[in-house]
Amino acid sequence: MEKRDYYEVLGVSKSAGKEEIKKAYRKQALKYHPDKNPGSSEAEEKFKEAAEAYEVLSNDEKRARYDRYGHAGVRGSGQEYHGGGMSMEDIFSSFGDIFGDAFAGFGGFGGSHRGGRRVNKGSNIRVKVKLSLKEIANGAEKKMKVKKYITCNSCGGNGAADSNSITTCSTCNGSGTVTRVTNTFLGQMQTQSGCPSCGGEGSSITRKCTSCYGEGIVKGEEVIRIKIPAGVGKGMQMTVSGKGNAARRGGVNGDLLVVIDEEEHDDLIREGNDLIYNLYISIPDAILGTAAEIPAVEGKVKIKIEPGTQPGKILRLRGKGLPDVNGYGNGDLLVNVSVWVPRKISKEEEKTVGKLKDYESFTPAPDKGDRSFFERMRNYFD
Ligand SMILES: [Zn+2]
Ligand SMILES: [Zn+2]
Repeated sequence: MEKRDYYEVLGVSKSAGKEEIKKAYRKQALKYHPDKNPGSSEAEEKFKEAAEAYEVLSNDEKRARYDRYGHAGVRGSGQEYHGGGMSMEDIFSSFGDIFGDAFAGFGGFGGSHRGGRRVNKGSNIRVKVKLSLKEIANGAEKKMKVKKYITCNSCGGNGAADSNSITTCSTCNGSGTVTRVTNTFLGQMQTQSGCPSCGGEGSSITRKCTSCYGEGIVKGEEVIRIKIPAGVGKGMQMTVSGKGNAARRGGVNGDLLVVIDEEEHDDLIREGNDLIYNLYISIPDAILGTAAEIPAVEGKVKIKIEPGTQPGKILRLRGKGLPDVNGYGNGDLLVNVSVWVPRKISKEEEKTVGKLKDYESFTPAPDKGDRSFFERMRNYFD
């Protein structure tokens, strides 16, 4: 999926100042806020998109990189990343203050007061997935068994032995909060706090479910399918929302965080989206030229080695590298040509090679105008 321009997402110009960006983000965030759009995944996407744009544009350093290099410049920094994006939790913990009072109290770890009543939140689970280069090139679908807390089957997650065992809290009448009114010389002041009798849950259980001891969750496991896009890299993290631990007594599930790891390849080294292969050719082949086969990710690629090829020459096979995770085309396969110098030779071979010393062409006579070494080094350190 192509990413939209961050300025476009927030509806501001490239020269917009910090305050303007903040205002624009606040407007988007309130418009697409989950509380205003319950159950709409489109609104959730828009909400996350705006947060990602704001995360980059509100940070001077990230914004500068984005202006120069586009999405590629800020990929992998912070929490944003195409496969997962920021989770709702990340957004509220990072930018919650921006929403001001409009949605005060939503989000936060462990539990939250939404509409007054406490909502439990299951914890996140982090898993590692190791991928081969071939899987990274093509994208992969992984099935994994995750050990975690799941909703208790016996009680359906409410933690009660039966429906008669749940009583509405009499202290707060089910609202989960208590309001205290104090008289001061300035007038009456109201303060709201979580209900001490029910811990903010709004109800209490008289007889607990015997399977989960009233928790609403039990230890279990779930087989989860994870679709991993092509081009991911080591250390990247994807968020599969709602697939983490179930929450106590019918709360909101945590997320499953999938951290990408890479298997080492026998022949190819990865450098960003490029792949590097070290090709050994013999001394005669370097002099006379030859054909060689390169083990690319998707089968062998034939290449021609020109007569007089120098060791250290790098041949670029365009598009034979890895796909970009954000869909910006493919990297290249770089073939570094090494010339094989035998370590041990026979008496007869020694004689033959010794004769070569008498030929003028075998005396080093590099072209002084040849800048290819400098070019190579410059590219190497870029
Ligand atoms: Zn139960
Ligand atoms: Zn209560």
